[in-house]
Amino acid sequence: MKKMLCAALAAAVLAGGGALLAWRGAAAPAMGPALRGGALIIDAGHGGEDGGAVSITGALESQINLDVALKLEDVLAFYGVAPELLRREDLSLHDVGSETLREKKVSDLHNRERMIRELGCGLLVSIHQNSYPDGRYRGAQVFYAPTEGSKAVAEHVQAALAAGLDPDNGRKAKPIPDSVYLLNHVDCAAILVECGFLTNPEEEALLRSDGYQRRLAAVLAGAILTAPGPTNEDTGV
Ligand SMILES: [Zn+2]
Repeated sequence: MKKMLCAALAAAVLAGGGALLAWRGAAAPAMGPALRGGALIIDAGHGGEDGGAVSITGALESQINLDVALKLEDVLAFYGVAPELLRREDLSLHDVGSETLREKKVSDLHNRERMIRELGCGLLVSIHQNSYPDGRYRGAQVFYAPTEGSKAVAEHVQAALAAGLDPDNGRKAKPIPDSVYLLNHVDCAAILVECGFLTNPEEEALLRSDGYQRRLAAVLAGAILTAPGPTNEDTGV
């Protein structure tokens, strides 16, 4: 079973990461420029009582986020990179004392913020899924924090998602809205990846599937490892 998983992951890396490396025109270093400033932190959005968005077939965003985050960790291990995951289970990270759902959500976000600081963040990658009342809309989109280096990483990851996963996706990386707490309360480079729309029938089915999640993780891993760091962002290297 374990061997099968490894073989499947290796295939995913070859399919996703390999295509990306060809696109970059260079081999990925084990530790890319964006990761030289501290820990790579992966945040699977929501969890526990906060399920996030609900898909058109009733799947919870929180579970898909966690599935993608864990697969991303697996793919990164092939490159010798061990990220820090803020959660590895279906749980909310709120304090014991919080009672209402609102209190729990606020406490959860404050705890994520504290963990990110304590881990010595170099790059934060927050994984989410999008939703919209109109089911026509689809496509992964990357948002970036107002911190140094975030925009360059987001544009790099957005381009990789189009090149390695969905050539029809013409979406552009955008600044994170003020309403998103976590990315507005970190000091490190940070991006939020909306992997796709849970309200689009075709994309929702893909986002729930093991194979697509693995391809997504492979493309994200390749992009993270080759992302520009804050020191070379200005020179365009
Ligand atoms: Zn979300």
